[in-house]
Amino acid sequence: MNENGMRDLNEAIGQKPKSTGLDHVAAVIVVLSGKGGVGKSTVSANLAAGLAMEGLRTGLLDVDVHGPSIPRLLKLTGHRPDMSERGMLPVEWHWNLGVMSIGFLLPGKDDAVIWRGPAKSGVIAQLAEQVDWGIRDVLVVDCPPGTGDEPLSVLQIFGPKAMALIVTSPQDVAVDDVRRSITFCRQLGNPILGIVENLSGFVCPDCGSVHQIFSTGGGERLAEEALVPFLGRIPIDPEVARSGDDGDVYLAVAGQSPAARAFKSVIAAAVAAIGGKKESGDAGRS
Ligand code: ADP
Repeated sequence: MNENGMRDLNEAIGQKPKSTGLDHVAAVIVVLSGKGGVGKSTVSANLAAGLAMEGLRTGLLDVDVHGPSIPRLLKLTGHRPDMSERGMLPVEWHWNLGVMSIGFLLPGKDDAVIWRGPAKSGVIAQLAEQVDWGIRDVLVVDCPPGTGDEPLSVLQIFGPKAMALIVTSPQDVAVDDVRRSITFCRQLGNPILGIVENLSGFVCPDCGSVHQIFSTGGGERLAEEALVPFLGRIPIDPEVARSGDDGDVYLAVAGQSPAARAFKSVIAAAVAAIGGKKESGDAGRS
């Protein structure tokens, strides 16, 4: 039964639909990748920070249960969420950006998550729904890689309103994985915001120009073939890696580099897809 059918049924039997911390979240962007290491978390962190800097009330949820890297990327390692009467409060990176990560809940930064499949899905659902997100124009979700149980749980929790942003590297082997990600979203009925080709060419720190060291264009060809928007190429820039390691969000420290311009065009596409601010109210709280 679809979401509307479930709502009608609840009304007919006199039950209100369950309220969750997601009730005032207007739009959801789930960042997916066919495999790990293609820059999914880097794109998630910069997208969320960029949307917040554009004035959108933004949430960032890191459900990458095996490698929660968002706390490190935003220099929030070791933070613990406060509680409200409605649930855990996101950790604030910026007055417009609240963050929740499985990494905030583990006893130490080197602890690993050893839950099996169903337990992991339960934790992902709790992280999404039992957080008091307040009013958010958009929630960016950093999803585990692949098309297995965990991304499936994420898309099922958020339902068909969640738009997928797919990150790939340019090589054909990565592109094959992305083809599977597109099929996965289509089978679940989730719209695809677009494909981003990360690690696409190298920005020379001396001369600033972009050198193509591997093949490029695989993401763009796939976008054309699958009739989904291509949102641009982000080159390899040593400053992206350095800022990630040091917890300085690249977009907040970058000037007008080719990588910064590429991130900004992804953010502009996301703003257009969301349609700007949705609900009035104070940033973050309902
Ligand atoms: P994933 O979430 O897909 O596993 P990450 O975002 O953790 O990937 O990125 C993997 C590594 O690649 C990190 O060290 C990150 O700093 C680096 N990286 C990602 N994108 C770029 C880029 N455009 N230029 C340079 N380094 C990058």
